[in-house]
Amino acid sequence: MTATQISDLILDLQARGLRLEAPMERRTGGAGPTDCGMLWVAGHPVTAPTEGIAKDSPYTLRAEDDGYGIYRDGVRLADASAQRRPRFYDLSTADGVPYWQIALLHLDSVASTVVQHCAYWGNDDQCRFCGIGLSLAAGRTIARKTPEQLAEVAVAARDLDGAVDATLTTGSTRGIDRGALYVARCGQAVKRASGLPVEAQFEPPVDLDVIDEVGAMGVDSVGIHIETFDPAVLARVAPAKARTGIEGYFTAWERAVAVFGAGQVSTYVILGMGEDPQVTIEGCKRAVDAGVYPFLVPLRPVIGTPMAGWKPPPSSYTRPIYAEVLAYMIRRGMTSATTTAGCARCQACSGLSSMEPVLLQIGPRPQARPEA
Ligand code: SF4
Repeated sequence: MTATQISDLILDLQARGLRLEAPMERRTGGAGPTDCGMLWVAGHPVTAPTEGIAKDSPYTLRAEDDGYGIYRDGVRLADASAQRRPRFYDLSTADGVPYWQIALLHLDSVASTVVQHCAYWGNDDQCRFCGIGLSLAAGRTIARKTPEQLAEVAVAARDLDGAVDATLTTGSTRGIDRGALYVARCGQAVKRASGLPVEAQFEPPVDLDVIDEVGAMGVDSVGIHIETFDPAVLARVAPAKARTGIEGYFTAWERAVAVFGAGQVSTYVILGMGEDPQVTIEGCKRAVDAGVYPFLVPLRPVIGTPMAGWKPPPSSYTRPIYAEVLAYMIRRGMTSATTTAGCARCQACSGLSSMEPVLLQIGPRPQARPEA
């Protein structure tokens, strides 16, 4: 397949999903993109829906003698390799907490929601796309992970399963740091124990000096997620974030870029929630100019949330937005290799990095992957 054909396939898989004819590791519940399969397609890391809309997808994943193949109408389109069950999932802490309730392996990143409560969950402020409370209710995780637990699990994920970084997120609190200091403390412990680069994700703190404190704890990258640049959509889907406002995010990002450096600050930008595409593109370009990586992702409706009935946007919608923003980023020297740790390093939930070879005229981005 050409680089363009691979990219087209990945964008379409993220829009239409993948029917599984073979077992594979999946992610259910939690913050961020979920209810998905995690795999490499022609060497690119990809998450794609495997529930809901996926039942009508033309794409199937089949096991083969050596790995997997992606098929459409019986025609084999691409090689795939799926994440095996991580070895560290079989371990437990000395006090009996299974490691998989503390952190999960998202392809090659050990990831955890360090505090599984959010001040907005269950009230009018809840982000409509978010599933942070669902995995706790289902008993798939524990409410609060300690720095010591996370450090222990990160070392095991590195040694047993080849994790190359750690992605730590948190629900928001009503304190002036909005939870940033605790997730940073967890990141500090993970980094000291494992040496892995760490991304910490949090809401803009009320007191921006908190960002300096997060930097002093040694975190490599931060995610401060605006979710959409369209103010009307932000008000509808994330009322608490709308109170911070678009300008409030830029103020926090500028402080964060001064601490962590250009490209080490990223934001999720979700496509497919009714936003104005031009407002979205202009917001992304302004973020790039400020040194912020706009991590564009298609909406991944989470079962059990208010947006469960929505569908991911078609690739005909996402592709031109990716293309325009990506071209702008490349002109300013920002690529998927820029960010040290976290979601924008991994790239699996976005179609952005699959389009880089097309725009840069190079082969697929080589990816670390676990042994088969
Ligand atoms: S701030 Fe929004 S996206 Fe983040 S955990 Fe709370 S409800 Fe979920």
